[in-house]
Amino acid sequence: MYDLTFAALEAELAASGLRPVHAKTLWRALHRDGAEDLTQRPDFLPPLRRWIVERMTGDGFSIALPPVRSETASSDGLTRKFLLALEDGQEVETVLMGYPGRHTACISTQAGCAMGCVFCATGQMGFIRHLTAGEIVAQVLHCRRVLRAAGSDGLRNLVLMGMGEPLHNYDAVMAALGIITDRRGINIGPARITISTVGVVPGILRLAGEQQPYGLAVSLHGATEEERSALVPVSRRWPLAELIAACREYCHRTGRRIFFEWTLIAGRNDSPETAARLATLLQGIDAHINLIPLNPTQSYDGAAASAGTVHRFQRILRDAGFPATIRQRRGIDVAAGCGQLRAEKRAA
Ligand code: SAH
Ligand code: SF4
Repeated sequence: MYDLTFAALEAELAASGLRPVHAKTLWRALHRDGAEDLTQRPDFLPPLRRWIVERMTGDGFSIALPPVRSETASSDGLTRKFLLALEDGQEVETVLMGYPGRHTACISTQAGCAMGCVFCATGQMGFIRHLTAGEIVAQVLHCRRVLRAAGSDGLRNLVLMGMGEPLHNYDAVMAALGIITDRRGINIGPARITISTVGVVPGILRLAGEQQPYGLAVSLHGATEEERSALVPVSRRWPLAELIAACREYCHRTGRRIFFEWTLIAGRNDSPETAARLATLLQGIDAHINLIPLNPTQSYDGAAASAGTVHRFQRILRDAGFPATIRQRRGIDVAAGCGQLRAEKRAA
């Protein structure tokens, strides 16, 4: 059911002779209320009730959210990570991060990933398949249900930084975001949503033309082509120079800031020279840099940069005029790095 955009739902109901008003009622039940049972709704009129009985029995539509295969919480309880089982048995990770007064959900867009970043647990699995729009929406509904059960309604922010490359699954991601931002339903503001990409250049340019102010984060990790391709193999397909040109165009066309993510790996991309080169590379771009010390993974022998090195890297960027923040590795004790929970379950 969650695959349907509002327009598609309207068309679906219209095809069965139902008036548009029923689409609004059903949409609110699904997306605003997160209903678990559609047979007990006092707000549904008889034609909609009949339609529900017809379509939701047998192999018609389903409103079941993916069951939780496993769940872990960080020791401070602020980060909860869920491994959700999809209909075909694939498993994806969804993370709920709590901050005072607001929550952020981090959701997946693919099972596995084709991009092959050497340090990433999801990249190490290879590509399995794209998620559907409904499977992306369902992760948000799951997070909100968990929050509501705990008496909180504060799911405010969304980041597409879980498993997979969102711009490699562009159409499903955009359909899902259309559903997630709909004011009659889940209603997360588009400016509170960040799409993180490894640097799929055509996707970045397409995103620049979207009518919604979604945030963009670009995972850079290297300031020269050689340094970057060693960590991010798809840099050979969309080289660093082309990526930076696309970022400039994105800023120019949208007037929005770009977040650059930089996983700091000891001895690979954490030197003061690299920091200075990065500052030069981003000159003229409205950039905010997020520094993330590496979360070690099984099939990669790199180590996290030391705290001193991370701070030195940050200082150089700040001195060059760039806001740079160090992202805590929240919940490293719950294997909260991208793809790591699933990888651990498989190995167990
Ligand atoms: N495919 C997208 C979004 C998912 S990955 C992308 O690559 O941007 C989200 C972020 O987590 C990326 O910046 C990625 O580089 C980072 N990441 C992945 N594995 C990591 C690890 N083991 N340690 C630290 N950061 C990691
Ligand atoms: Fe894919 Fe992102 Fe992991 Fe790279 S870091 S392999 S793009 S999920």
